[in-house]
Amino acid sequence: MNLLLEKKLQEIDYIGSALSLMYWDSSTEMPSKGATKRGDLLAHFANDYKTKVTSPELIALIDELALQDNLSDTEKAIIRTIKKKYDFLNCLPEDFYIPFKKDIALAESLWEEAREKNDVTIFLPSLKKIIDGNKLIAKYVGYTTTPYDVFLDEYERGLSTELLDPLFEKLKKECIAIVKNIQQTTSIKHEDIIPKGNYPKEQQKIMSLELMDIIKFSMDAGNLNESTHPVTNSITNDDVRLTVNYNENDFADVYLAALHEGGHGLYEQNIDPLLYGTTLCSGTAMSIHESCSRMYENELGRSKAFLSYYYPRLQELFPQLKDISLEEMYKGLNHCTPSLIRIHADEVTYNLHIIIRYEMEKLMLNEDIPVEELPKIWNQKYKDYLGIDVPSDLLGILQDIHWSNSLIGYFPSYTLGSIYASQLFDVFKKEHLTWEKDISSGNIAPLTEWMKKNIYQYGSIYTPSELIQKITGEEINVDHYINYLKDKYYNVYGL
Ligand SMILES: [Zn+2]
Repeated sequence: MNLLLEKKLQEIDYIGSALSLMYWDSSTEMPSKGATKRGDLLAHFANDYKTKVTSPELIALIDELALQDNLSDTEKAIIRTIKKKYDFLNCLPEDFYIPFKKDIALAESLWEEAREKNDVTIFLPSLKKIIDGNKLIAKYVGYTTTPYDVFLDEYERGLSTELLDPLFEKLKKECIAIVKNIQQTTSIKHEDIIPKGNYPKEQQKIMSLELMDIIKFSMDAGNLNESTHPVTNSITNDDVRLTVNYNENDFADVYLAALHEGGHGLYEQNIDPLLYGTTLCSGTAMSIHESCSRMYENELGRSKAFLSYYYPRLQELFPQLKDISLEEMYKGLNHCTPSLIRIHADEVTYNLHIIIRYEMEKLMLNEDIPVEELPKIWNQKYKDYLGIDVPSDLLGILQDIHWSNSLIGYFPSYTLGSIYASQLFDVFKKEHLTWEKDISSGNIAPLTEWMKKNIYQYGSIYTPSELIQKITGEEINVDHYINYLKDKYYNVYGL
């Protein structure tokens, strides 16, 4: 590859790393008063990033590379990803982009204030700016079917409502049916098995660090901090920062969140170092990232095999668990109960939380709904799909940080991640018949090595669809996930 092109790609990566570091700092160490000036700083560097990605010199070098014969997969991916970024950013005028980035940077603190005061009206004007700004982006970028498709495609190339609607509709029906079957045929309350309260933060820290050690997340190339919302920020693949939110009322939240963020972290840490500085040295799309994190959270963390290894240690760390058997703990971690908060939801109802957000985003981007109506629509969907009343916006539309960060089109990645995780784990199990024995002895290496060989090392070289096709031999297929949910939950509830 041309040396000048290498230098330009490296510069783009440097700005990306600096932005990541600032985002990490914003969510961990930054004092609240710093938000406004941090917003200016983030907007400045985001614009710098845009200028570099859309520079005519870079695009000329990319076009020149595209004309060469025998391109490697890495070179093809550089052309694909830079062109995608260029197409998206180049059509956004600076006099729109910088003020919009500043609006976004301020929205998070207004969202936090709205949460503190449980008053959604504090956040709604910001949400309106974000929705309007995104509608404008869709107009600038251009679309064939709906404005929302622009953002789905941004998170995963080729994704559209046309593709997602039937997939999510099928999953929605199945998840609602599983919940109803469980509710109608059993009175067992697995959600009450794990006692609430008195899980000291210090013990939870020990647990989280032990989990990182077991899954081999390297603490020499990463760390684990605390923030309101668990998040992974990769500065470089030698500096991957995870956060969790300690909850002294419930160890399971942190247990699952640590494994989830650890799953994201392992992906970033195990990308081929040769990709550093090429703009490909990060996960290929949020859906594949979520498949990695949700696999470590759910297929591993909630499995009987892993619990049979780690539960005795959990009982040592938290003595109130000593009279709860392994079998009971497995049921407690795998209950299925409609609830209000997405991040605390079980594996089945989690998808309904996501599908509600997907449907809300379609309404926000594709229709002209006044923002004041959104909390009511949210609450109605919770009643229709989960059968529950939303008592306050704090437990409703104000619960997620995403929209305040203008992350529209992101939510579907979580459920896509679960679907991909099932497809991938089915292949892993076929190729590693001793997987349960290995995991129950605390040997996670076969899984991590398999993920490294098939996914991690490639960074962004392949698209999600190419990766899934390459590993599983088929396109996205929701049936693996539906079968996984039915097998597990009907078994847990003895149905
Ligand atoms: Zn995640």
